[in-house]
Amino acid sequence: MVVSTLALWPWQQAVLPDALRALTSPAALLHGATGQGQLNLAFQLAKAWLCEGHPEPGGMFDDSPAEPELRPACGQCPACHLVDTGYHPDLMVVVPDNVVPRVGWPHLEEALDKADKGEGRKRKLSPEIKVDAIREVVSFSQSTVSRGRAKVVLIHPADRMNTVSANTLLKTLEEPPGQVRFILSCGPLDDVMPTVRSRCQAWQMPSAPAQAVAPWLAEHVEGLSAADASALLAAAGGSPEGALELMAMGWSAALWKSLPGDLKAGRVGAWGQWPLPLLLSTLQKLAHDMAREAVGAPALYFPQAALPQGAGLPQVTAWGQELRKAMRHAEHPFNAALKAESLLFQARRALAKA
Ligand SMILES: [Zn+2]
Repeated sequence: MVVSTLALWPWQQAVLPDALRALTSPAALLHGATGQGQLNLAFQLAKAWLCEGHPEPGGMFDDSPAEPELRPACGQCPACHLVDTGYHPDLMVVVPDNVVPRVGWPHLEEALDKADKGEGRKRKLSPEIKVDAIREVVSFSQSTVSRGRAKVVLIHPADRMNTVSANTLLKTLEEPPGQVRFILSCGPLDDVMPTVRSRCQAWQMPSAPAQAVAPWLAEHVEGLSAADASALLAAAGGSPEGALELMAMGWSAALWKSLPGDLKAGRVGAWGQWPLPLLLSTLQKLAHDMAREAVGAPALYFPQAALPQGAGLPQVTAWGQELRKAMRHAEHPFNAALKAESLLFQARRALAKA
């Protein structure tokens, strides 16, 4: 059985009809805060557009005033089943290799395994959408519709198209042929190239309400209390995907709470092993919370009680600026280990005064 990870999350049920109503252009761009389940929502939009289970509008079985394309997918018809398993001939889903496990389609994973075997080694999963995939999108768009409803191309995350990929897509995106609909999804809109953005109808999806996500996390993750779920959700900046990733890395609410104290005390042996972007974003969250505390605002990411007390705003601000500068080069550091060491040194210096 294929377990699709692309089902709507409970709080997205109310969002889908709004998205269906709002996104009328054949080139649509769904954006929002990082890790809010954009892929799930985009997938359900594609499924709704391809669903064949609704009666003809105005026909004798039609008891709803809404147009068929404004209704969520029925989940029962042959088209819906084909979409769920990834075999609908009029749907093309384009994700970078590192997103393939989230999609949960065996044939995509098999393609990755095959490529590994071809090279005789397990490759690192690429976070980029490469031009070959976009060339396939262009030729898919030009082919005729198989089942007669529409053709849908889903690209996620849209900001992971490199310049060549994006340029290859522009013309098709500007004038999608015939019944082709594009749904691009991404985090913050600013991350997407302006050339792509300007050719799409953008729609901002609302962020998940913490009061709905935390109980849901607690219910679905064994041994997780509601309080710990809230703490991890805050740690992830309110992103359900981020909270799940933290847990997948083995992080707990207790570990998160101990981080500021450990950093101040220099108990950071393991920190140097973290991927640099994770180290940087964690330090940035701490600097951000300490700056908020210095002006009397409540912390966003860490429990208030876990924050080192008494830091002055000037040094916390200066530290935050240094971190922002480092962030620009986080994905391509000259020497990651050295960089991590200097970041930790910087952090301890900033906290020492606290
Ligand atoms: Zn259906």
